[in-house]
Amino acid sequence: MEIVSSPAVAVNPNADVLDPGEAGREKNPVVIAVPRETATGELRVASVPEVVRKLTTSGHNVRVEHDAGINSFYPDDMFIEAGAKIASGRTDLLAGASILLCVQPLTVSEIEQLDRNAIVIGFMNPANNLPAIIRMRDLGITAFALELVPRISRAQSMDALSSQATAGGYVAAILGAGSCPKFLPMLTTAAGTIRPATVLVLGAGVAGLMAIATSKRLGAVVEAYDVRRAAGEQVRSLGAKFLELEINAEGQGGYARELTPEEKEKEQHMVSAAVARADIVITTAAIPGRKAPVLIKKETVSTMRAGAVIIDMAAETGGNCELTEAGKTKHEHGITIIGPQNLPSRVPFHSSQMYAKNLQAFLALLIDKNGSIVTEFTDEILVASLLVHNGVVTHKPTLDLLDGGKP
Ligand code: NAD
Repeated sequence: MEIVSSPAVAVNPNADVLDPGEAGREKNPVVIAVPRETATGELRVASVPEVVRKLTTSGHNVRVEHDAGINSFYPDDMFIEAGAKIASGRTDLLAGASILLCVQPLTVSEIEQLDRNAIVIGFMNPANNLPAIIRMRDLGITAFALELVPRISRAQSMDALSSQATAGGYVAAILGAGSCPKFLPMLTTAAGTIRPATVLVLGAGVAGLMAIATSKRLGAVVEAYDVRRAAGEQVRSLGAKFLELEINAEGQGGYARELTPEEKEKEQHMVSAAVARADIVITTAAIPGRKAPVLIKKETVSTMRAGAVIIDMAAETGGNCELTEAGKTKHEHGITIIGPQNLPSRVPFHSSQMYAKNLQAFLALLIDKNGSIVTEFTDEILVASLLVHNGVVTHKPTLDLLDGGKP
């Protein structure tokens, strides 16, 4: 992860809210705020009562906006029982808050309500959210983007991309099963024998592996493919068949690299044959920072089995199927093509719980044993995930997108 400033990032010494607790001064408890998410269709909440209880027991003040957890089935009463105060609105929530935990990136107008020197932690979707980043920079707000948490072993407990991809992969498999006109398991009944359905999973990262495991549990025959050869072992360990291609496109940090034109052609050939024999295809293929690779061409869809279903988890980044439209369900050649958005939000109880635990682990790096916010962001996880601080965009790729690279 490229960082513009030096790895040790000093916290603004003039911050009156973020009292570092120097000798002789009374230490203020850290005030942690949890808003009600405002993005359309977002049912998750950034913290849950179980985590709030841990934070309040550690001496922090937690404020939760009224009905913040209502859509994920954590009512205000549960937060109150866990030691939180309920804020009737945004102004009460944010006044004097040191840290704001969120799921979706804040809007510009939400950012403008924050205290100067406040710290925001959540998904920031930096490349698609530049106006908000500029506003945070100009207002002296600090933001940590969970997408930027490095995928090292020590950061696994804070890896919100993984926890939410797990939820997404599960929902994709359920959605596939629910949209398919067939049973998934093999059945031997008095009314005859039913052959099991075939599920094909393209992209066997975190979401893909969960989709494989869930489809297997539902009794389907599962095949999977990924450009990273290392994924083969994981696929096989779940009892699915791994489709081998003479390509190993493992790039930096364990992620996939883009394929060459020749490799793409070989891939197309093999994937098309597998798609044609599947009842449900779940696609999850992604390359960080790029449009999703097209794995299923229009012509291939027309070769699919009648009633087959495509669940395109890459819909929001362009889709792995040429016919996918994000947020829509289409019917072409008798095939259903679903381009779902925000799948984790469809299991908001557990996806919020997992996300809240990711944030709890992240806060343990940011708040020291004395209950104060650390005065220097020296930990490599904090350094890598820091997006904006002290009026500077600290994440190099985002900075490059802004003002031609000027801070
Ligand atoms: P991702 O969401 O970026 O992509 C999903 C999958 O699509 C990946 O497995 C990728 O290889 C695959 N893909 C890309 N192009 C493809 C193509 N043309 N055809 C088929 N498949 C294609 O990935 P992710 O789920 O975030 O995981 C990426 C990597 O990070 C994996 O190796 C995963 O095991 C690793 N990871 C490590 C940690 C950790 O160590 N803490 C945590 C989570 C994930």
